[in-house]
Amino acid sequence: MLVKLTISSSAVMFIFYVVAVLTFSAKHLQGTPVQNVSTAFIDRQGLIDLTRFGERIYGHPDKAAGEKLSNLEAHEMLNPEELGPYLEGDLLIPHGQKLIYRNGVTAYSARWPRGIVPYEIKGRFSEQELAVIDNAFQEYHNKTCIRFKPRSNERDYVVITGDSTGCWGSVGRLGGKQVVNLQPVYCFRKPGTSMHELMHALGFVHEQNRYERDSYIRVLRQNVKNGMLFNFDKASPSALYSFGVPYDYASVMHYSKRSFSKNGQPTIEALKQTSDSNLMGQRIGFSKGDIAKLNAMYKCKAQ
Ligand SMILES: [Zn+2]
Repeated sequence: MLVKLTISSSAVMFIFYVVAVLTFSAKHLQGTPVQNVSTAFIDRQGLIDLTRFGERIYGHPDKAAGEKLSNLEAHEMLNPEELGPYLEGDLLIPHGQKLIYRNGVTAYSARWPRGIVPYEIKGRFSEQELAVIDNAFQEYHNKTCIRFKPRSNERDYVVITGDSTGCWGSVGRLGGKQVVNLQPVYCFRKPGTSMHELMHALGFVHEQNRYERDSYIRVLRQNVKNGMLFNFDKASPSALYSFGVPYDYASVMHYSKRSFSKNGQPTIEALKQTSDSNLMGQRIGFSKGDIAKLNAMYKCKAQ
């Protein structure tokens, strides 16, 4: 009898505990404007989970990043977006930027409704640089259903700035105004850099940090700059934005093999020899995989 009583007390306590946790979760996980966050809701609304980046993705644009770029020789194989002091080189959500949903480190951005991205260009760019930006837009327009259109009065939009703070942007639609910064000269040497930063804004992250990447590349940790290894942290298996497209060495979102190197030696080694494995870090344009992923995320009909 005593034993039964103990069990039932435990059961009651357990139920009480469960109810308390659920009540707490319901109260604290209901950020605005997103209500009742659940996996189904996230899938339906196309939210993009930024949680794995933690606090490191928040920061301030850094003028020192711009100065560092001015030391980059044109012939170097490194891409300017790999050199920033930001998370993974070029990912930054400025402090104070509102997000679609954030509760502590739990943070989401979102896709752009119907693939329409309103934009403003605020940087002082040369005609040639404006042509590079326009070329990036045209690549999206020709190969996907995504549309960059000059902003009229839309609430959420991208402003392209040209501050001396490097090449950087945020992942997904944050809500309100968000920056893609393309520092003149350095972020325009290759057509793929603008395309890369815009692909972040659309919701994509770096290819070399896919959760299954260890089957395709080896990170040569001994050559990575001290304290920079976190830039090679893998995505969690639950954050799947690969849409069935296999690991893609040729992606415009893949870093070059000497990114974050402290000694000029490679930091990324391809484990498979394919026709694409020597294309790591290319910034000529979209790979077939990039186009497939963009069209899948934005549910484009066949182009
Ligand atoms: Zn990037």
